[in-house]
Amino acid sequence: MSDAVARLAEVKARIAAAEREARREAGSVTLVAVSKTFDAVDIRPVIAAGQRVFGENRVQEAQGKWPVLKGEWIDLELHLIGPLQSNKAREAVALFDVIETVDREKIAAELAKEIARQDKAPKLYIQVNTGSEPQKAGIEPREAVAFVRRCREVHGLAIEGLMCIPPVEENPGPHFALLEKLAREAGVEKLSMGMSSDYELAVAFGASSVRVGSAIFGSR
Ligand SMILES: *Cc1c(COP(=O)(O)O)cnc(C)c1O
Repeated sequence: MSDAVARLAEVKARIAAAEREARREAGSVTLVAVSKTFDAVDIRPVIAAGQRVFGENRVQEAQGKWPVLKGEWIDLELHLIGPLQSNKAREAVALFDVIETVDREKIAAELAKEIARQDKAPKLYIQVNTGSEPQKAGIEPREAVAFVRRCREVHGLAIEGLMCIPPVEENPGPHFALLEKLAREAGVEKLSMGMSSDYELAVAFGASSVRVGSAIFGSR
């Protein structure tokens, strides 16, 4: 058994325990295994062990490994969790099943165009910069609800979720709570929050998916 497969089992057990602890339904949290910087040889054993949902943060890197893997397994689900440039919208719509990082008008417009052109509609989440960090992607929290509405009404996009990456040096709990509150206000169902260091806490705050990289694949 590869180290990653053993660690995958551990992470799944911890998610199950966190679901029980929070009195949430078993299996209600989706594990997104973040495979960025790892190659297909590292990823294959994890797929073979039953994992089907993966996250990548760069379009170009994902294009280098996932078309082949998607050809081998028909039921994989690939999430884009890194910043999206508008000149990459075409490739992103073609490759990803979920795009979690919609955060500005221009991207929303480009995605709407590509979705119509390719007749393929990845699920879309809005990234919220809950810590208002200048260097971080994401829409400002105070603009998030209006942006969801504009995505729906102006661009005709079906927005399913919100996503956040809390500041590294802060307690993530208040950020998770803020994302949950904004999702309720915006009428959005899914919450992508929690990484290797805080995914159990995210489950307690209502995450519908957690994005776990190093706790499965090892340090990058
Ligand atoms: C890399 C990454 C993760 C996974 O981080 P780990 O700490 O390795 O679990 C989660 N979300 C995003 C947006 C990332 O870029």
